[in-house]
Amino acid sequence: MIIDTHCHLYMDAFDLDREAVIARAKEFGIQYMVNVGIDGPTNRASYELALKYKTIFHTAGFHPHSAGEFNDAEFAAVRSFVQETKPVAIGEIGLDYFKSQSSHEDQKKTFVQMIGLALEQDLPVIVHSREAFADTYEILKKEGQGKLRGVMHCFSYDEAAAKALFDLGFLISFTCNLTFKNAVSLAEVARAVPLDKIMLETDSPYLAPQIFRGKRNEPCCLTHLADFLAEKRSVAREEIERVTSETARLFFSLKDRP
Ligand SMILES: [Zn+2]
Ligand SMILES: [Zn+2]
Repeated sequence: MIIDTHCHLYMDAFDLDREAVIARAKEFGIQYMVNVGIDGPTNRASYELALKYKTIFHTAGFHPHSAGEFNDAEFAAVRSFVQETKPVAIGEIGLDYFKSQSSHEDQKKTFVQMIGLALEQDLPVIVHSREAFADTYEILKKEGQGKLRGVMHCFSYDEAAAKALFDLGFLISFTCNLTFKNAVSLAEVARAVPLDKIMLETDSPYLAPQIFRGKRNEPCCLTHLADFLAEKRSVAREEIERVTSETARLFFSLKDRP
């Protein structure tokens, strides 16, 4: 059994066959899926799927791409959504200076406010960070006050960055882009870091593994990532599954629902 700690099953890419995708995940041994929201409507859509399927858990986030739309009314709405629906995490939130679809100021402001919400609600955060490590780290350290739990998802930085996050008490998670032929240095990071500090994710529908590159990704493809990591680290696939799943269950407090 293995856990997809980050996917977006509410997206249009799954509109034609969502039910089959969720069933296929189960067939391939995906125990749970964390369905990650990126703004008000998708947080709600993610929650609706979690109500329908016991293997799905929802989060409440506000993506840096949409930070330009974040304001006091949006914050109040996401806060009451969290109180009402009890998500397993706040996220995704963070900074994206690669695409910079929102101003860096708006991104930082949104990120800081959402961290405050996570601390208030005693929830972990799922952090998206692209070409913005220094600012992300500074905000997590300052705003987290040593109390914030979190994961940097789709980790794309170097080993020193991973180490700095571990020292903050954070985890990192790897996506199927780890299997890309040109991801040599990232694969080296994934080989070197402690196994109990990492989680696995697909970020579906994005980032399909090398063999399906360019196609739609889906949770069952997580098995390719687990195989890749087992080979890289020269350990049994079962060991990768056991350790990363245990970490994910504890981190998000996941358990079977009646
Ligand atoms: Zn992301
Ligand atoms: Zn994502």
